[in-house]
Amino acid sequence: MKQEDPAQLWSVCLSELRGMMPAQTFATWFERTRGHDVTPEKFTIEVPNPFSGERMLKRFHDKISQVVTTQLGRQVVIDYHIFEGNSQIIPVLTDLPSYVTDRAVQADQTGQAGRAGPADRADREQQAESKEETDNLYDNYTFENFVVGECNDFAHAASLAVVKSPGQQTFNPLVIYGGVGLGKTHLAQAIAHESKRLGTVDRSRYVTSEIFYNEFIESIQEKKTKEFAQTYRNVDLLIVDDIQFFCKGHKDRTQEEFFHTFDVLRQKGKQIVLTSDRIPKELSGLEERLVSRFEWGLLADMKPPDYETREAILQKKADKDGLSLSPDVIAYIADRVASNIRELEGAVLSLLAYASLSHCDITIEVAKRVLSNKIRRKQRSVGMEDIQKAAAGHYGVSVEDLTAKTRKKHVVAARQAAMYLCRDMTRASLKDIGAVFGKRDHTTVIHACQTVKKLLLSDGSLQEDLDKIRNSLS
Ligand code: ADP
Ligand code: MG
Repeated sequence: MKQEDPAQLWSVCLSELRGMMPAQTFATWFERTRGHDVTPEKFTIEVPNPFSGERMLKRFHDKISQVVTTQLGRQVVIDYHIFEGNSQIIPVLTDLPSYVTDRAVQADQTGQAGRAGPADRADREQQAESKEETDNLYDNYTFENFVVGECNDFAHAASLAVVKSPGQQTFNPLVIYGGVGLGKTHLAQAIAHESKRLGTVDRSRYVTSEIFYNEFIESIQEKKTKEFAQTYRNVDLLIVDDIQFFCKGHKDRTQEEFFHTFDVLRQKGKQIVLTSDRIPKELSGLEERLVSRFEWGLLADMKPPDYETREAILQKKADKDGLSLSPDVIAYIADRVASNIRELEGAVLSLLAYASLSHCDITIEVAKRVLSNKIRRKQRSVGMEDIQKAAAGHYGVSVEDLTAKTRKKHVVAARQAAMYLCRDMTRASLKDIGAVFGKRDHTTVIHACQTVKKLLLSDGSLQEDLDKIRNSLS
């Protein structure tokens, strides 16, 4: 890669961060930030004032750090500096003592005429923040951005029906369930966006069950449970995301509160939409009366995306990011990233970052290299012979050594690694694996796999070896 350009690196990071929070939040905190400097150990970000610097640290540091690490492919220290004209740069302090705020007042008073003072700005920023807290929606989780395929068409159709005529008994509640990263949150938020856009409901509320829980606990502490109940019982559309959270720990009172909220809303003919990582009756720890209520309406499942849908999603994400991907690159990813839509997105983002930092086209070779650590397991079946060849090559032994009787230490290590990979990457039975390794018994294969697993716990270089062999197979 060419020399790293801080501005460009930050702009790629920003494009990723934008998708990780509501638009309002992003605009408030990130719009006036810049990438200032990048060294092998450190990335410096400029922020407009101490207030926002402090926010960055408190609220977004984890996200920022995660995104920067992914883009750079290494861990760096992240430094926030306050941008002051072109010359002076002041580091942001973690705990903001009053003099820093005072400094900001001075800095701002000497700043351009007509600009709002920091007190105003802080107010506005705080207002924006509290406004966002009642919305909680991601801007891009809309129907328009949702690719429909066989895997999700039922849930999609049910969601549209709810938008069109909310509160109908047959769709109330609508419970969307399925594994992680399959689009439940996206669809649930699309319902909120679209209902608002079409005006089919006046008041809607989208929360995760965690927010519901936290707000409820807070209302108990502040003796404001009546207000809490009011807020939730006076909406036309209530969406609660990830209800499986209600089952963890002791949340009896929360479940009870939710039960009453549910009944009031449903009696008033208000629409309820829930998402869950599994079908309600498998939510152990959830009160029986809630489970049965969740089954009154419509249960819609989301399945892992089929190949065509994966291609369509990749194409759509790439188009949206202005990244041109050839059909063979799309096919390459669609073929290998099969389980989860979030991972498909991750693949596109990595390629986007690479393309914008290195200014080179994404050929199939580039894609293979860039995605090598994301695409671990080839979804198409890998043959045991391929694995043997790759393992032998990596360890500098011959395939014959692997199948022969020799007990030389490094041959044994190579053989065990190869057996482990056969078990891990193919559907071959223990017996089949034993057979291609010089007609060994299946217990030998079990022993090999256990040895490797145990070693993996302590031996980092073994993990690297296995990764390299895996990558050479894709
Ligand atoms: P879940 O809530 O089921 O874990 P999300 O709704 O968070 O999954 O989806 C994960 C990511 O994949 C999100 O960024 C979302 O926008 C994207 N995504 C999911 N399903 C689709 C789809 N059908 N079309 C386009 N993007 C999708
Ligand atoms: Mg979700």
